[in-house]
Amino acid sequence: MASNSYDMIVIGAGPGGYVAAIRGAQLGLNVAIVEREHMGGICLNWGCIPTKAMLRSSEVFHLMHRAKEFGLKAEGIGYDLDAVVKRSRGVAKQLSSGVAHLMKKNKITVVMGEATLPAKGKVSVKTDKGTEELSAKNIVLATGARARELPGLEADGERVWTYKHALVPPHMPKKLLVIGSGAIGIEFASFYNTLGADTTVVEVMDRILPVEDAEISAFAKKSFEKQKMKIKVKAMVKQLDRAKDKVTAHIKIDGKVEKHEFDSVISAVGIVANTEGLGLEKLGAKIEKSFVVTDAFCRSGVEGLYVIGDATNGPWLAHKASHEGVMVAELIAGGHPHAVEPDSIAGCTYCHPQVASVGLTEAQAKDKGYKIKVGRFPFIGNGKAIAMGEAEGMIKTVFDDKTGELLGAHMIGAEVTELIQGYVVGRQLETTEEELMHAVFPHPTLSEMMHESVLDAYDRVIHI
Ligand SMILES: Cc1cc2nc3c(=O)[nH]c(=O)nc-3n(C[C@H](O)[C@H](O)[C@H](O)COP(=O)(O)OP(=O)(O)OC[C@H]3O[C@@H](n4cnc5c(N)ncnc54)[C@H](O)[C@@H]3O)c2cc1C
Repeated sequence: MASNSYDMIVIGAGPGGYVAAIRGAQLGLNVAIVEREHMGGICLNWGCIPTKAMLRSSEVFHLMHRAKEFGLKAEGIGYDLDAVVKRSRGVAKQLSSGVAHLMKKNKITVVMGEATLPAKGKVSVKTDKGTEELSAKNIVLATGARARELPGLEADGERVWTYKHALVPPHMPKKLLVIGSGAIGIEFASFYNTLGADTTVVEVMDRILPVEDAEISAFAKKSFEKQKMKIKVKAMVKQLDRAKDKVTAHIKIDGKVEKHEFDSVISAVGIVANTEGLGLEKLGAKIEKSFVVTDAFCRSGVEGLYVIGDATNGPWLAHKASHEGVMVAELIAGGHPHAVEPDSIAGCTYCHPQVASVGLTEAQAKDKGYKIKVGRFPFIGNGKAIAMGEAEGMIKTVFDDKTGELLGAHMIGAEVTELIQGYVVGRQLETTEEELMHAVFPHPTLSEMMHESVLDAYDRVIHI
């Protein structure tokens, strides 16, 4: 049917899909978007946004306990977990409604239902009212991902949770086990630990936040342990024995199995892409470990089929998904966009203290054969950090000794998730130490530490 024919059909309305749809509409394409559950995807509904709302509550709670340090009085400090969750759900709902509004504003056809790909250029959608058949020369698959579950450690929603349960917890954990110390695991560990849960994190690798620079991981571990979090690295949860009100975890560490009791467990061991049952294999798309294999322009190898965001290669982050969305919409509209460079995508973890990074770690730079210069600057040397009462943290920069190219930047401390963007822009502009040293950073700001870290790499640091 001609009315069901579009220039571009997007499947999935997460930050990848809805941004692709908007950019396509801006470029004059006739766009439809298919979504089976919620506008805004995991990011707005069960990921980035509701977690940050919850973490903001725990941050304020933490600060209230420090009131005296600031000359303030706060008595009878407490929390109402239901109200914390209600606020987080409200924030998610507000933003999800905002996406629906943006679809309308951009004249994008929204079809609510489950999509499959019966043939090249065809999308079949199971809606409440029956099946709708749509067609388009270009299809953008942005179906995202869900929590990975390990055999025997599956979530049950009662005592063992995925991130979804942890965002609407049936009870406040007293003794919590977090399995996995990537960004998601560490953010939940930080939230519940700050609210008073006796929290243990188990990580199979030799350090927490394993994708970060080793120095930042070590700093984070020390800081979390100071906050009474227990951390077990090179450890593996082998088994969970579930009883009515407790879970006994069998944790293998140093060749021995220890048994520990918890009342709640959060499993945060990665994600699985939502790529099964769509008909991708039949079309000829290649799938590896659930993710669709694509080239640097998100092309799947099947004519007219692009795959973006969490459904394809990492890093599995919302801003990477959105950027790919813009890129494929521009390609489809006949433009010549640049490919997304994974090394220039910043990663942020909103624990306390925050962690943020972009580019190569020191070890990665060395492995790639670079002769490097490394700069470091501690928060304790920065006036604004001290005035804020946030003197814990550091900023590390890695440069190519030969060319002065900024290869990577790694931060831990207050507000670093906002600061990292400065280095992201620097890398995009292929900046060298020269420009960074000549840039004038405003005083007093935390950003001055970004300057000082660069100066330190070249033995010109001022404030330490
Ligand atoms: C707890 C948590 C915290 C996170 N925090 C951050 C963060 O701070 N920063 C960050 O950058 N990233 C964060 N992420 C990751 C981020 O959420 C994802 O990278 C991002 O959502 C990926 O976007 P996407 O558009 O690819 O997919 P999604 O957001 O997963 O959206 C996919 C959409 O497709 C729909 N869909 C799936 N299959 C079909 C189908 N067959 N038919 C129709 N619709 C379908 C789904 O319902 C969903 O709405 C977090 C993730 C989690 C779980």
